[in-house]
Amino acid sequence: MDVRGLGYLEIEASDVGAWRTYATDVVGLAVAGSSDEALYLKMDERPFRFVIVPGEADRLNSVGWEVPNEAALDAAEAELEAAGVAVERGGADEAAARRVRGLIRFVDPGGSALELFCAPVQDHTLFVSPVGVSRFVTGQLGMGHVVLMTSAFEETLAFYTDVLGFRVSDWMMLGQMQLCFLHCNRRHHSVALGAADRSGLAHFMVEAGSIDDVGYALDRFQDHEIRIKQGLGRHSNDQMFSFYAATPGGFDIEFGYGGIEVDDLTWTSQEITKTSFWGHRRPPRVGG
Ligand code: FE
Repeated sequence: MDVRGLGYLEIEASDVGAWRTYATDVVGLAVAGSSDEALYLKMDERPFRFVIVPGEADRLNSVGWEVPNEAALDAAEAELEAAGVAVERGGADEAAARRVRGLIRFVDPGGSALELFCAPVQDHTLFVSPVGVSRFVTGQLGMGHVVLMTSAFEETLAFYTDVLGFRVSDWMMLGQMQLCFLHCNRRHHSVALGAADRSGLAHFMVEAGSIDDVGYALDRFQDHEIRIKQGLGRHSNDQMFSFYAATPGGFDIEFGYGGIEVDDLTWTSQEITKTSFWGHRRPPRVGG
């Protein structure tokens, strides 16, 4: 299967207003449109990269993965069905809401809802960050990465590699937790899977254009009294210079800069034994 990159995330929010303030004033995304049904957030030339929908829960609703064209979407649908996966084809209204020409929906073995889409409909509006983030690194690398916990680790990993066509970048044991980092383009990982009791999103990562973007972001998170979950550090595998903070969704954000790219012609998967060269330390929690 020809998955080319992480395209968008749909997040369900009990307080869309809180997400709006967080996304624009703290993270630095731009509002690309909003209605009673959805808040669209922009980080690059695409019409949106995040859609926040009102609901009772705070959670990740869906992960959108991009395939190159309609033929690839049709082929993916057939491959998923051949693998025994229940696939739903999004109707014209749903495709219009996603600003794409076509999409299909299914659930991975860990229970995460995924979409494959093709042909995003461009609005040719440039991204201007309301708080001055120079840019977010997207394009052929996709919009960032997600780390998904799964209570069915082996099946989920086999699904991403054997059915969806992801390649293993590296492995890591984090304490007792097995992690596997997977790529589908030159970004070191677009998804990582972690073996856990419960399935769900651990964090998503956005990559900004400069080291100063990360520093200014850290100041904004602290000015808004957002809880920093892990301070500045540099990861050993994707070499991302980043910090982690809470989001209104219950999962975390990683805000980074400077991730390496991998080339399938030369990359060999490896086992890493330390998450970070330095840093990424958990600050003491104050005030309970
Ligand atoms: Fe990460």
